Amino acid sequence: MAGSLMKRMSSSFKKKKSIVKDDDDETNASASSSFPSSSVSSNEEKKMTGGGGNTKTNTNGSDYVPPKKRNEFTFTLPSSSDERDQKWDVIIVGAGVAGASLACVLGDEGRKVLCVERDATTPERIVGELLQPGGYKKLKELGLESCVENIDAQKVYGYTMYKDGEEATMMYPLDEQSLNDDIAGRSFHNGRFVQQLRRKAYGNKNVTLREGTVKFLVKENGETWNDEANDGGVAGIAYDIGGDEWVNGQLVAGKEKPKRFTSYAPLTIVCDGHFSSLRKKLADNKIDHPSHFVGLILDGAPSEILGENANQGHVVLGDPSPVLFYPISSKEVRCLVDIPSHVKMPRVKDGSMAKYVLEKILPQVPKRVQPYLKIAVERGDFKAMPNKTMPANPKRTKGAVLLGDSFNMRHPLTGGGMTVALSDIATFKSTLQPLGPSFRDGQSDAYNISGIQKAVDEFYAHRTRPALTINTLANALYKVFTKSENSGMEEMRKACFQYLKLGGGYARGPIALLSGLDPNPLNLVTHFFAVAVFGMGRLLVPLPTPERCWEGLKVLSGATQIIVPIVNGEGILRMFFPATIRRRLGYI
Ligand SMILES: Cc1cc2nc3c(=O)[nH]c(=O)nc-3n(C[C@H](O)[C@H](O)[C@H](O)COP(=O)(O)OP(=O)(O)OC[C@H]3O[C@@H](n4cnc5c(N)ncnc54)[C@H](O)[C@@H]3O)c2cc1C
Repeated sequence: MAGSLMKRMSSSFKKKKSIVKDDDDETNASASSSFPSSSVSSNEEKKMTGGGGNTKTNTNGSDYVPPKKRNEFTFTLPSSSDERDQKWDVIIVGAGVAGASLACVLGDEGRKVLCVERDATTPERIVGELLQPGGYKKLKELGLESCVENIDAQKVYGYTMYKDGEEATMMYPLDEQSLNDDIAGRSFHNGRFVQQLRRKAYGNKNVTLREGTVKFLVKENGETWNDEANDGGVAGIAYDIGGDEWVNGQLVAGKEKPKRFTSYAPLTIVCDGHFSSLRKKLADNKIDHPSHFVGLILDGAPSEILGENANQGHVVLGDPSPVLFYPISSKEVRCLVDIPSHVKMPRVKDGSMAKYVLEKILPQVPKRVQPYLKIAVERGDFKAMPNKTMPANPKRTKGAVLLGDSFNMRHPLTGGGMTVALSDIATFKSTLQPLGPSFRDGQSDAYNISGIQKAVDEFYAHRTRPALTINTLANALYKVFTKSENSGMEEMRKACFQYLKLGGGYARGPIALLSGLDPNPLNLVTHFFAVAVFGMGRLLVPLPTPERCWEGLKVLSGATQIIVPIVNGEGILRMFFPATIRRRLGYI
């Protein structure tokens, strides 16, 4: 049995996935249910091929050599189905951006890490393709900057925005020292980056990477963990190796049943991403579905497609909502079309998606991009992802912690997710550090469980500034940049564009926040209301008639209606009060 499982695990080309319940199930599922029913299982990123088009993925970037085998790692099975004898210091669920980075970092610290990932082949997805400079700085701080090398990543230095035929360009505020340190954004194929992180983790002598699907968390006796009150702390994970496989885009039952394993550690870190099946028991989350991103790849050199500002993100403030372009290799540009939840999701199969992009979106994007977008649409290689927002609200469970998208999500408009995840990892690393490499209490063999719990609490207390600032900005900007029937909100959208177009300090502050270089939430609120006041001022000049004063007040009220619920959701105390004061108030 074990022998044949081993053979199946190393069989290179079969993509293995398992059905994990989508957390869409627990919240409003309307957004995702608008997908064609024939699309893939609801928990996977939707790959939608239409119009008989071929599905071409360009992998011939200048410094990128694709791995020879699709599954390049060789895994061995655990020595027993219940690994009680082999306690790991840390178990990580998922080797995506957060899990794989964390495995490298904790392995470097000397901790014995088990990381279980359900699919070790290179992911092909439209998420996590632009790492902001603040995120790149964190990557460097964690010693992982080599993971954006040799993947044909492009450097990104700022943004160009478009509205009604006007343009505004904003550069990241990078001083000479930062430029000398090669700080800039990086954009790439997400799968290539993730695979580099996994390769690094796989090469770390303290890290064991296994391909398996984690089914549930376990208590001390190996049975399912449900909650702390009845089961005590989390003691580890139960996971399946082998089983169902993807063949020609269909999920088929494997010839053999999957084999179940149980592993134990004093700390389990759940990094199972956007569609997390494990977060439900570890957090009380409210998940919103503001929109979907539909992705296309435009073939051609970024300089050909995007012109002189090729090394920038491009945001079209369109109707009904923004459209993004950014380079992802020296030969490709990504286009992401946002489809807000109030718009009926067009279908690929009946051609309405192509029609929507060609007729509604294409006329709004810069002229030089249009022919490339048209070709991409005709090729029909659409991919879609639901965009979710979810403030962090952990239950503070003994022995377990959430990280990455399973913990906290924001609208991906500003490309902030990976920066938050890396920033959280840096914070967590430093709060765990005083416990020593293996969490052991002095000379004794026992794990310092209360010390670990204290470190987790410290992490929750100290992660707040960068994460909450990036989350709030992303969610607020998405609301501001989405067309609205409310004249106050619409005026705010115009004002925001004109404010950024002023350049200098007006643009520098917001772009520093967006890039993750400035984590101060007070600066965020100041700029947000400065835009609203600027918008009011625009209305009152040249003559402040009563109608114009009324419209001005609507701008201010629109701004307040946007920012207050978002800040409330993230937690006003968390956002504006330092950890020491919050602790005194009993609020982490
Ligand atoms: C449309 C879209 C675009 C985005 N664009 C950007 C961007 O440009 N820049 C940016 O910074 N952020 C972006 N983000 C956010 C970013 O993708 C995430 O913040 C980031 O990928 C989070 O990393 P993660 O490790 O938590 O999740 P992931 O990278 O998704 O990794 C989760 C891993 O867990 C594995 N897994 C899941 N369940 C199990 C299980 N039961 N057992 C074992 N393994 C499991 C998965 O296979 C996967 O490898 C975007 C998000 C979306 C939705």
